[in-house]
Amino acid sequence: MEKVNLKALPPEELKTFMSAQGLPAYRARQLLHWIYEKRATSAEEITEFSQKLRRQLDQVAWIGNLELLDRAVSADGTQKFLFGLDDGDSIESVLIPDEDRLTLCISSQAGCAMGCAFCRTGKGGLRRNLQAYEIVDQVISVGREIAPRRITNIVLMGMGEPLKNLDEVSDALHRMNRLLQISKRRITVSTCGVVPGIEQLAFKAPEVNLAVSLNATTDEVRGRIMPINKRYPIKALLKACRRYPLQKRRRITFEYVMLAGVNDTDEDAYRLTDLLRGIPCKINLIPFNELEGIKYRRPDEGRVLEFQTILVDAGLTAIVRKSKGQDILAACGQLRHREVSRPQVMK
Ligand code: SF4
Repeated sequence: MEKVNLKALPPEELKTFMSAQGLPAYRARQLLHWIYEKRATSAEEITEFSQKLRRQLDQVAWIGNLELLDRAVSADGTQKFLFGLDDGDSIESVLIPDEDRLTLCISSQAGCAMGCAFCRTGKGGLRRNLQAYEIVDQVISVGREIAPRRITNIVLMGMGEPLKNLDEVSDALHRMNRLLQISKRRITVSTCGVVPGIEQLAFKAPEVNLAVSLNATTDEVRGRIMPINKRYPIKALLKACRRYPLQKRRRITFEYVMLAGVNDTDEDAYRLTDLLRGIPCKINLIPFNELEGIKYRRPDEGRVLEFQTILVDAGLTAIVRKSKGQDILAACGQLRHREVSRPQVMK
């Protein structure tokens, strides 16, 4: 009989599984606590269970865990984790310290089909959707590595487009909230602009924050750097944002990766203020991190500040995001790229 991966089971099915083993409901509650909060990686570690019960469990079940393949620590404290999946593929998560926050940026897919021209992950295409437990396990595994420090915020902004894997993503969000006690207010889902997904997210995980990767102010430019724009142009995307049922005192975050000579002119800044008028939002300006094999360049600091000033003068909240972890290839897809480019994956 094939052993059951306890993490792959929806938490509500754990009770049925335990009762099929002749065990009472409270054992399922204990098991959930040990898997998610105490981060047990095998039945053997569940010391609240007797040796006999641990052996019984070990015969029919196992606890699936991501395999830590590589960990890089930047001089600025950013850390990047490369995790191996059961099928031999790999994904990345990035831990970003910022004042009193410790934010973990996690992946929702292995690879990505969206093909954004400035993104390393987009170059490799989609390999597969992650399962809910593989999404949550990035949080559990990094939590184990950095204990006793605790992750305070989660952003789904790593590899993949979360709204293209929404069922597994919303299952993962509920597990993070209910079993890891991470408030939904501290979780952000970032999309490149999948309009139907934005509408569904509002129903499936209504309290999480929404971030939209906008990156251009005309359909011509956005279509060039983000193929999704051909399907859902700026007008349709912003219409979905205007209709998004925001919780009280919440705002949508618009990410704007600044590419020199492509989307960083004064005209772009003025157009951006017009486009976002009336949407409760803040704008993250992200000067592009130059990547080998990708033709775009980073604008100089003066250009970024002038762009920001136009937005701020128009009454918008616009923050320039500092580049973090440049010495450890912290941009999406870079560490995995380095690993798969080697003759052997480092274990
Ligand atoms: S930026 Fe995000 S959505 Fe675009 S290709 Fe990269 S991972 Fe996919």
